[in-house]
Amino acid sequence: MKKRILTGDRPTGKLHLGHLVGSLQNRVNLQDEYEQFVMIADVQALTDNFTEPQKVRENVREVALDYLAVGIDPDKTTILIQSLIPEIAELTVYYLNLVTLERVLRNPTVKDEIKQKGFGKQIPAGFAVYPVSQAADITFCKANLVPVGEDQVPMIEQTREIVRKFNSLYGEVLVEPEALVGKIKRLPGTDGGAKMSKSLGNCIYLSDPADEVTKKVMSMYTDPKRVHPTDPGTVEGNPVFVYHDAFNPDKIEVEDFKKRYREGKVGDVEIKKRLAEVLNELLEPMRQRRAKYESNLDEIDRILRHGTDKAREVAAETMGEVRKAMKIDYFV
Ligand code: ATP
Ligand code: MG
Repeated sequence: MKKRILTGDRPTGKLHLGHLVGSLQNRVNLQDEYEQFVMIADVQALTDNFTEPQKVRENVREVALDYLAVGIDPDKTTILIQSLIPEIAELTVYYLNLVTLERVLRNPTVKDEIKQKGFGKQIPAGFAVYPVSQAADITFCKANLVPVGEDQVPMIEQTREIVRKFNSLYGEVLVEPEALVGKIKRLPGTDGGAKMSKSLGNCIYLSDPADEVTKKVMSMYTDPKRVHPTDPGTVEGNPVFVYHDAFNPDKIEVEDFKKRYREGKVGDVEIKKRLAEVLNELLEPMRQRRAKYESNLDEIDRILRHGTDKAREVAAETMGEVRKAMKIDYFV
């Protein structure tokens, strides 16, 4: 039997280059080797977007389109909608007994996000415990591997703790998953911020048209200390170079750019122009695949319905085992 993957995205916006290097590339590469489940996490998106259900709803299809555009193949990968798997909500309720509030609030990603979203003391309880719901996402299908960006590693660690606790209390039912971080752990934003993120408006989207990509690249943050092209520049941590490293297949060219940048022998414009070309070459086939599906939205719905049905069968199986282990399988 193939090992399983579960991973997913929040339908809070279209997917961007950070998703591509953090997780999507691994999903495309591993979909033959693993039985893969990819979840559109609308329940999780609602934890901090509950006042905007329309936004979440609209982005479910957008995210599905992005999946198909990058080459996730619905014949190989099961694409599902989280809210339509009630077993996940059920598991979450039982897992909440296995964690402390203190532990949940100690999660460094949750801490960062609480700060970033400006909740102050008004933290929605559902938001604070979303990592527990994420443990339910990962374990409903007994996933072995979770391809994610670095910010999600604490979530996988928390899931592992919950699995160990469950198994030691009730018997070996759940599987301890491992995180698989992409080749760039955390892609910075075009504004130089630590993470490209839908919520921060510093993204290059996979679906951006070519001229938009070029515009965003040309106004990217670089080395703020460098005023003239003849000033020696800093390459390390400079997002333009992080992107070249992540996306430019011509490593010799990238090394030459770095050398000349450090020596003050190349302007930002030349480096950015080339980056825009590289990105547009990468994104063009995705745009074409996207356009094909965009004109056939019924097909998207069919894929989502089919994937969700299949996931429900798997979830029901796990739920049966969980109920038995927890002695709440009354009338079987
Ligand atoms: P939001 O701002 O709504 O949280 P997001 O841009 O962080 O959106 P998510 O849906 O939370 O996107 O993340 C989906 C997956 O993509 C996760 O595995 C996450 O780690 C990964 N990911 C998101 N942004 C980046 C990034 N900049 N670099 C690497 N991986 C990323
Ligand atoms: Mg996020």
